[in-house]
Amino acid sequence: VPELPDVEIFKRYLDATALHKQVRTVEIRSASVVDTSAAKLHRALEGTELVSTRRHGKYLLAALADGGWLVLHFGMTGLLRYFKDEEEDAEHDRVLLSFANGYRLAYVNQRLFGHVDVTQDADAFVAKKGLGPDLLGIERDAFVERLSGRRGAIKPTLMNQSVVAGLGNVYTDEVLLQARVDPRATAGKLGEKRLGALHATIQKVLEEVIGFDADPARAPARYLLPHREEGEPCPGKCGGEVKRITVSGRAGYYCPSCQRR
Ligand SMILES: [Zn+2]
Repeated sequence: VPELPDVEIFKRYLDATALHKQVRTVEIRSASVVDTSAAKLHRALEGTELVSTRRHGKYLLAALADGGWLVLHFGMTGLLRYFKDEEEDAEHDRVLLSFANGYRLAYVNQRLFGHVDVTQDADAFVAKKGLGPDLLGIERDAFVERLSGRRGAIKPTLMNQSVVAGLGNVYTDEVLLQARVDPRATAGKLGEKRLGALHATIQKVLEEVIGFDADPARAPARYLLPHREEGEPCPGKCGGEVKRITVSGRAGYYCPSCQRR
């Protein structure tokens, strides 16, 4: 499931491929991922260019030269693919932009939980979606303040996009293991010091994951990422095993000896 680091990687991919190229046509193959009308999507994109991008949590927004923004959310399985026109397109391409240079950008999604939309104002869109501040680069004090006083368990609190935006199930487990915080710990009871340490861990993990392209095979040895299975050795070097745990209905992984409430 694409989370903040994955979407940041898609952002950099889009920046390196599809910016400043005239969009000739838009092809919608799965109308169910398009949150606006087909007519609006065609009108907003055809003849213009994507000029810059911005990410907020798991949303990627691309500014259009003629005004407005293209909005992409990747749902459970989404990704982007930029390829030459004559190359095979794929079964799960849902929306395709064809550029004047003979390339296409595909919004690919195996399952249909993603969203493609257009908006006039990126800030207003983020506000309308009720998103909390983006986690990458959030100041320590702002993070501590957002989490202080929260009565829920830390794991669902971190995953709640209206509290802080960007984390899903996998990277929430990751940061909690590396920060040695039990996923069931009450968020507001962790205290300023542990929340501050959690903030530092989150920043480090996000930067690192973006750096190794979210590829579990390239994760440093202290990462849970390649060990997300019951009975795997704990990467925290305690000698124990990774356990499966369900917190607020979401199954995940943790180490009962490294992580404390
Ligand atoms: Zn451990």
